[in-house]
Amino acid sequence: MKIKPTSKTRGVVVELGPEESQIPAQSLATASVFKLRKILVPIDFSDCSKKALAYAIPFARQFGAELNLLHVVEPYPAVPEMAPFDAETTEDGRLELEALRKELGNAVSCSTLVRLGAPPTEITSAARDLDADLIVISTHGRKGLSRMFLGSTAEKVVRSAPCPVLIVRESEREFLPDQPIPYPDI
Ligand code: ADP
Repeated sequence: MKIKPTSKTRGVVVELGPEESQIPAQSLATASVFKLRKILVPIDFSDCSKKALAYAIPFARQFGAELNLLHVVEPYPAVPEMAPFDAETTEDGRLELEALRKELGNAVSCSTLVRLGAPPTEITSAARDLDADLIVISTHGRKGLSRMFLGSTAEKVVRSAPCPVLIVRESEREFLPDQPIPYPDI
């Protein structure tokens, strides 16, 4: 199949070869109605969040979208005595996120962003500020008491997100090829 510009109508001409009886369905599918330009992927550096990234990459590639990797650094507790000595700084987050972005190589167009605050609030605000079209986020799918006490970031994001959210559970039926990281091979 060849696609050529035409000066007469300022459109394109699609030339099918003798063996092609119709435009391949895949070409029509990718020239899709979806306008996916920005995909926000919140990353807490857990395997679970990297799994969400592994889903986001093929979406970004297929739709020519940009990935926005977001890490949220939670502020120190208000009581100084309670501040953990190894509390993460925004610089730590920035460096770790940058290292992850480098791992992706040129597989996909990708930017990184670090915000300070509560993860669910910052994830939804970032989606709004970036005008993200889709959030791809993972969940451990906690149940019972742990969910009651720890809450679910994913659930809070779904409730307040300004755009559609794809939730990737820790363990579920996958539609990714059975391939581990490195991401560029996905
Ligand atoms: P859940 O109960 O929904 O599993 P978690 O707190 O374990 O809640 O987080 C689920 C996902 O939310 C993480 O895998 C990650 O994608 C995102 N997330 C959580 N905390 C952060 C953070 N500080 N920065 C960026 N993303 C985060």
